[in-house]
Amino acid sequence: MGERGESERLSFCRICEATCGIRVRVRDNRVVAIEPDREHVASRGYACIKGTRFAEVQHSPDRVLHPMKRVGDAWQRISWDDAIGEIGAKLRELVAAHGPDTLAHFMGSPAGATTLAPAIQQAFLSGLGTRQAYGVGSVDCNNKFRVNQEMYGSPFRLAFPDVPHARFLMLLGSNPSVSNTSLVHLPHSIGALRDVLRRGGRVVFVNPRRTETADAVGEHVAIRPDTDVYFLAAFVRELLLAGAGDDPRVAAHTAGLEELRRVVEPWTPERQEPVTGVPAARLRELAAAHRASGAAALYLSTGVNQGRHGTLCYWLLEAANAVSGNLDRRGGTLMGRGIVDMPAEAKREGRFERTDRTPVGSFPSVVDTWPVGVLADQILSDDPRRVTAMIVWASNPVLGCPNPSGRLERALRELELLVAIDVFRNETGDLAHYVLPSTTFLERADIPYAIQTLCGSQPVRYVHYTDPVLEAPPDVREEWWIYVKLAEACGVRLFGSRAADAFLRANARLAHSRLHRLAVKPGTLIGLVLARAGVGGRRAQLRDHPHGKLLDPNRPGDFLGTDRVLTPDGRVQLAPAEFVRAARGLEADYERELAGRERLKLISKRERGSLNSWLRNAPGYAKERSNYLYLHPEDAARAGLAEGDRAEIASAFGRVVAPVRISDELMPRTAALPHGWGHARAQGLRVAREHAGVNSNLLAGDGVANTEALSGMSHLSGIEISVRPAPPGA
Ligand code: SF4
Repeated sequence: MGERGESERLSFCRICEATCGIRVRVRDNRVVAIEPDREHVASRGYACIKGTRFAEVQHSPDRVLHPMKRVGDAWQRISWDDAIGEIGAKLRELVAAHGPDTLAHFMGSPAGATTLAPAIQQAFLSGLGTRQAYGVGSVDCNNKFRVNQEMYGSPFRLAFPDVPHARFLMLLGSNPSVSNTSLVHLPHSIGALRDVLRRGGRVVFVNPRRTETADAVGEHVAIRPDTDVYFLAAFVRELLLAGAGDDPRVAAHTAGLEELRRVVEPWTPERQEPVTGVPAARLRELAAAHRASGAAALYLSTGVNQGRHGTLCYWLLEAANAVSGNLDRRGGTLMGRGIVDMPAEAKREGRFERTDRTPVGSFPSVVDTWPVGVLADQILSDDPRRVTAMIVWASNPVLGCPNPSGRLERALRELELLVAIDVFRNETGDLAHYVLPSTTFLERADIPYAIQTLCGSQPVRYVHYTDPVLEAPPDVREEWWIYVKLAEACGVRLFGSRAADAFLRANARLAHSRLHRLAVKPGTLIGLVLARAGVGGRRAQLRDHPHGKLLDPNRPGDFLGTDRVLTPDGRVQLAPAEFVRAARGLEADYERELAGRERLKLISKRERGSLNSWLRNAPGYAKERSNYLYLHPEDAARAGLAEGDRAEIASAFGRVVAPVRISDELMPRTAALPHGWGHARAQGLRVAREHAGVNSNLLAGDGVANTEALSGMSHLSGIEISVRPAPPGA
């Protein structure tokens, strides 16, 4: 305990996958300050303002501190017993009337940072028998999981760039200095990228906007939104023409090279140029530099994932890494080892490999989830097995998912039961019948995100354990507890095991009784996982490593030719049949792109001070309004718009009004509008409501036509729009 009754606790931020080490100064169970942990083994003193300002979220006066029930338009406090009892009774009634698929579940990204609860939540859904699981993956990254499944045999065999040794890095649709690197654990990525330059290497950003990162590091190649697939096809073609694929390792460890050659053959650098805007000579020069470097990695992120061809793009990108001999090579891409081999274990147990398809649109399950793009259809359907109930955990689909002219919101209003589990009552919570208050990351024991710790996508390989930094408010519950109670109320046996179910129920009862000291704490259960893993040491040992514990680094030569390739023939699949078929459809799409070259396309834009929609109810985050319509000077002039004017933005699906900012960072015929805004009617978010902005997802389409067929990704980037001065009063 320091001066003035303060103490300092070491932990890590869980707002994004970087999981930066932090020092939290605490007094009277309140955060005084959050600072970067300079001794953290991976982040080494880096933490962004989202993490260091988290006290504003933690202690927000709008935080939900008790279970709440909506009665008409009013919210009433309700006890946990009554809330769980009423929800359980209603769910039983709906399942009896419509079958188990009547319950849908939606999981947001903060939920992915909890260590124990996702397994219990999944056990609850599978015990109930519903397949209607949704998550942010279908607006964010499910294309990567689908490609990994097909090429490497598991959605979670996730290759990552070996940034510390790379000599050529090309990143598409990525802006690491603002939002780090999705699914790759690279805190302080800007420093790591600068090191590539210091070593004499190159870092290339392919993006419709000259991003903050491209301004600071490396070089920028401007590309027309949502045309990356043509650039990548031509890039792979160039690599193959120059002899990539002749590497004996490619012949030994991959399958489908000739089929891949046929797929990319039509896509010459000259042919891609008119739709992508990337000069053929520039593409050839990049391909030559890639080849000459001897240590090259390609990476892509959300800006490409959210296009119409996110799956094809990631396939071609991974194929480029593989055929050039850079997969499993020092300075190329590595297939990391988690503290356990979760992908192999999941495969043995058949987890994350559901083969069912959605009733609407016949979309495949990806990581056992369905695409949110067809959720509204499944609620508004006349089918007696339609969705009538939904649990939303740590998410806000009303703002975060395609919501054409408010259609998803209207569908959610039709539900007979909507339950939100969250720290705030957001716009989705406003529509709910019950809001159940959950913990923040500072109130939980955790290890960093499963995707890094269990799958190993870590350029710096380490493990970290944190105890809770703060005590949760008395009527707030951890999510594992909520799902155990919901399962009990619905008569669901968790994990299909009488013993596991009885233990969890008894532990949940004890955890909030007078005998709570006898309950097994979540940290103890995490310790069992770590002990089983062996590599991380037990929790007790990890407490001796409050800055994280370095593990043996991921190594090259640890994947190809080993049983870690989980495909049936043990080879990396360069030409999965469904992808090859889909690639044939590019001819028609190309003609459409060519004809529409002059149309304005909308992309999103990330912000350093915020993340999606969930941090805006804190003054420090909200005041940095960035929800402008950014336009290139040429496009602004064509539309008769000037800096500060209000523009009406129209797509085929909706219409919004936003103030204009002129920016030559954008390439012509590209507009940008940051997402996650639109809080004007949020009753539970007083700060965010004052800085409302507009919801860019009102302009996105949903349904079968606007959902990518291969992995069910929603089309949220590269939407065609028109702009004009907003009519007076709009
Ligand atoms: S980059 Fe920022 S938001 Fe992400 S973990 Fe680090 S401090 Fe938190």
